[in-house]
Amino acid sequence: IPVKMLPCRVEKMEKLADDVMALFLKLPANERLQFLAGQYIDILQKDDKPRSFSLANAPHDDGLLELHVRYIPGGTFTEHVFKTMKERDILRIKGPMGSFFLHEDSEKPIVFVASGTGFAPVKAIIEHALKIGFKREMHFYWGVRKAADLYMLDKIRAWEAQGIKFTAVVSDEAWEGRSGFVHQAVLEDFADLSGYDVYACGAPVVVEAAHRDFTAQRGLPNSAFYSDAFTFAPKSPTPPAA
Ligand SMILES: Cc1cc2nc3c(=O)[nH]c(=O)nc-3n(C[C@H](O)[C@H](O)[C@H](O)COP(=O)(O)OP(=O)(O)OC[C@H]3O[C@@H](n4cnc5c(N)ncnc54)[C@H](O)[C@@H]3O)c2cc1C
Repeated sequence: IPVKMLPCRVEKMEKLADDVMALFLKLPANERLQFLAGQYIDILQKDDKPRSFSLANAPHDDGLLELHVRYIPGGTFTEHVFKTMKERDILRIKGPMGSFFLHEDSEKPIVFVASGTGFAPVKAIIEHALKIGFKREMHFYWGVRKAADLYMLDKIRAWEAQGIKFTAVVSDEAWEGRSGFVHQAVLEDFADLSGYDVYACGAPVVVEAAHRDFTAQRGLPNSAFYSDAFTFAPKSPTPPAA
């Protein structure tokens, strides 16, 4: 798939939770971005440090590109999104990138594990899977700090009606549902993951914990673990070794 650099317009902004903003981006009329569900784009800024964001829409639904941007206090781009960005602003993007996409050649049931805005690429993959009439069993575990951080629950209810097994896991407050760390909930529910494919994305600590514990304690083969850790570029480039 060709990687393109394109201008785009912020068509719509929608607050999904206290610290999550959806951006809907429109490409120039004669342009399309080909991508696989789950891939990401970079937003190009003046400081040359790319800001990566996963595409939350599936390729069949590409009228607008959808991003879920979590607010990072002190973050140059995300502060801009929450404080000064307006609809009709112009951004420059580069993409698609990444290897976090559905491997359709496998027959195994799937466990998706997302933390926070790691929901975005999982949404793209699940919408794609439902569109192509995917028959594999799919479990989706979504970890957030507070119950109010869960968003698009109406969409998730519609997925559940189509067979997706959804579990929300809240780590920082008591609520009526599952509590604790999201990868821990998967460990509790699955005694053996050797016959599964796992797709994990979001905070690096969550992705790393899932990889470590699922392979060491639940027999998940390394090759059946697909992930995207939402790391961020360092403030300044590492100085060259003396
Ligand atoms: C492949 C990939 C996909 C991603 N997809 C998404 C997505 O869909 N949604 C989303 O919200 N984020 C996503 N991220 C993370 C996102 O790229 C960063 O949060 C973003 O670049 C921050 O930009 P900024 O200009 O606001 O912060 P900067 O000005 O670049 O950073 C300011 C400081 O904030 C801290 N910081 C920056 N980012 C983070 C972070 N993510 N977590 C904790 N501390 C941070 C660092 O200390 C940094 O020095 C993804 C990252 C990767 C690598």
